[in-house]
Amino acid sequence: MSDAAPVLRLSGITKAYNRGLPSEVQVLRGVDLTVGRGEVVALVAPSGAGKSTLLHIAGLLDAPDDGTVEIVGEPMQGRSDRRRTATRRSEVGFVYQFHHLLPEFSALENITLPQYANGVAASEAEARARTLLDSVGIAARADHRPAAMSGGEQQRVAFCRAMANQPRLLLADEPTGNLDPDTSDQVFNALMTLVRDTGLSALVATHNLELAARMDRRVRLEGGMLLAAD
Ligand code: ADP
Repeated sequence: MSDAAPVLRLSGITKAYNRGLPSEVQVLRGVDLTVGRGEVVALVAPSGAGKSTLLHIAGLLDAPDDGTVEIVGEPMQGRSDRRRTATRRSEVGFVYQFHHLLPEFSALENITLPQYANGVAASEAEARARTLLDSVGIAARADHRPAAMSGGEQQRVAFCRAMANQPRLLLADEPTGNLDPDTSDQVFNALMTLVRDTGLSALVATHNLELAARMDRRVRLEGGMLLAAD
């Protein structure tokens, strides 16, 4: 891997569902996108345009039909599942519209567990989890389970979990789409502070144009292609 390489480079990505069937839908038709180090890019598109499909391909959760995905300079096509999983675990963090926290575990545990899966020692994992919770303003909620937290707090914990293993790329799919406008604004600010403080690169899908305007660059997904939106 090269330290000078962009954190994410997508070239000529195509993807269809139900290929060869009458219900075939060609979602991506040749997507090119580069996300540089520390860059935060808004992915703007209406629902159904293929944002989730694109984020899943970028995050190595799904493979394109054609085209290439490079993470920090490493081409991913032809790599074993094991290698892709290892790269995803160490380099990529995901945040979804719904928090997907484990309900039976505390906020702290939700952030330490992915670190244990990556071989981090308990004391180090806990210290990192507490630092992350503090940085999004909810250190006092460390021992609360998700059900005992507000929607905004739950989503802040989800951000911390996504960053638990110090990825270089954050992929977020409508990360504040489930929150009321005021909470959405505060939670988005917390996310951006965390991203900026850590120098992370991010691709953030949203149809909220105000939030998109606060990112470094906007791209629009239209007809299966990515267009510069400004
Ligand atoms: P977005 O995230 O922008 O709402 P998606 O990537 O979820 O869009 O979906 C893009 C299109 O692909 C939609 O028309 C959707 O119905 C279709 N689609 C998504 N996943 C599947 C699947 N597993 N099988 C068939 N069609 C799918």
